[in-house]
Amino acid sequence: CGIVGIVGNEQATSILVNGLEKLEYRGYDSAGIFVADHNEDYLVKSQGRIKELAEKIGEEVHGTIGIGHTRWATHGEPSEENAHPHTSQSKRFVLVHNGVIENYDELKRKYLANDDFYGETDTEIAVHLIEYFAEQGISTKEAFRKALMEINGSYAFGLIDKNDRETIYVAKNKSPLLIGLGDGFNVVCSDAMAMLEQTNQFVEINDGEMVIVTKDRVEIEDEAGSEIQRAPYEAKIDL
Ligand code: GLU
Repeated sequence: CGIVGIVGNEQATSILVNGLEKLEYRGYDSAGIFVADHNEDYLVKSQGRIKELAEKIGEEVHGTIGIGHTRWATHGEPSEENAHPHTSQSKRFVLVHNGVIENYDELKRKYLANDDFYGETDTEIAVHLIEYFAEQGISTKEAFRKALMEINGSYAFGLIDKNDRETIYVAKNKSPLLIGLGDGFNVVCSDAMAMLEQTNQFVEINDGEMVIVTKDRVEIEDEAGSEIQRAPYEAKIDL
């Protein structure tokens, strides 16, 4: 299971697919990407290997922001529906997730009794929950934080709000996730290996932190919302 993401000026699709291929060793049963530009967006998911996903991605799929995922199923069988990225009720929010949400059933009953679900994953509940809070009129960042406060379990999350196609929101708790810094772009990944062709400058994220990533900014916040400064380190791994 693994996560990749990029926001910048270059086309994202092939960078995401190459990154996912490098994460296949972590285990996989299905995979998917979400890519967007200012007007259009594309969600492509497939059961099986990254190669099968790559074959499904048509030439029209383009955009300079995107997230991708290889899944190792914990809740819901391996299938195209259950593959990530997952979308919220109105499709406004798109989420990738590694890990296990332990209280997903309770969250579903408490907040999402009127929602429709297309799959069986714990992740789909999380993205619906983010939208539930966003609909109360707070910012995406605050809605994401509220959802994180409700969620028990392990996660590395990558979130895109289609109403703001310049930002990837990430958070982690007990699942790996790194930020990679570039010139005019930034990336997120479960393992530096996935993005070494893009950059060798990485920033660690600690459990409980949230990071707001745009093409020229990386803002790390602690659980209370205070900004944290953290220097990058240089990844030295032979390609
Ligand atoms: N629990 C999630 C699922 O079953 C994420 C699994 C993973 O880490 O790949 O879809």
